[in-house]
Amino acid sequence: MKLPEMRQMLSDRGIQLTKSLGQNFLHEEKVIQKIAAAGELTRADKVLEIGPGLGPLTEVLLAQAGEVLAIEMDARLVEILKRRFCSESHLQAASGPAEAGTPNLHLIHADALKYLESDSHDWRGWKLVANLPYSVASPILVELALTEHGPERMVVTLQREVAERLRAKANDEDYGLLTLLVQLNYEPKALFKISAGCFFPQPNVDSACLTLVRRRHRLLTPAQTKVFVRVVKQAFSQRRKMMAKLLRADWPEEVLRRAMSELGLSPQIRAEAVALEQFVQLTELMVETR
Ligand code: SAM
Repeated sequence: MKLPEMRQMLSDRGIQLTKSLGQNFLHEEKVIQKIAAAGELTRADKVLEIGPGLGPLTEVLLAQAGEVLAIEMDARLVEILKRRFCSESHLQAASGPAEAGTPNLHLIHADALKYLESDSHDWRGWKLVANLPYSVASPILVELALTEHGPERMVVTLQREVAERLRAKANDEDYGLLTLLVQLNYEPKALFKISAGCFFPQPNVDSACLTLVRRRHRLLTPAQTKVFVRVVKQAFSQRRKMMAKLLRADWPEEVLRRAMSELGLSPQIRAEAVALEQFVQLTELMVETR
């Protein structure tokens, strides 16, 4: 979808874009193809797209994957997507006003975050490929990353700063809560930058596309994961404070002292210097001693 076509579509319908919904649409064909290529799609794949907008990426996903589930919050864009991708006959056969689609597109008009939180979805066999709405990108990724059966691959276009946080390591400036909540189940892979000129309108932040691949073997069980989330949230609640002091609010001092000493972690260490694997081991020890 080229920029003039995009502008025309919007002006024909008198649509003023909504900044708070992060409506910056991709019009650079090469970049759209590169994002889809990172999905390594085959006809056997089911793809979740969050925020299809006017559908420039949707079009490519539909050509390469077997099934696309697209969730868009803006009713005006849902109408455009229906016209672009859904035949009249199928629209009539669709189950309700909120959902429509072609044989391989299911279009849902909803707030994606609420949709994901509302039920425990099983995303095994699915891939997320999306140019995410930047304001809700982090909670959406955390929700998908921590769900018991998350997508096998997530290819996401994001604010560059958020992408850097997602692939950070201990002691990096960007390392923190978001890094750990996502990396527990996903390994960050390739990242490429996307210049502001590839979007309409141009965002005033830098963007990047990051691939995350679900770990083959879980590092923690679902029950342990709940404790891990509590530990890392508490440990990063005040970045400059010693981790042991922060964790004492939730765990007995003796349990903490023993676990940290077993892992060779200094009592003075701050959370930003503790690696994912160490948080995982700490969680296992804390669960054992409960
Ligand atoms: N994928 C399109 C593209 O690349 O041109 C549009 C991407 S644009 C960055 C983000 C899209 O997400 C917009 O269409 C916006 O309306 C939609 N959106 C914003 N918040 C949303 C939410 N909570 N749930 C679903 N869609 C949302």
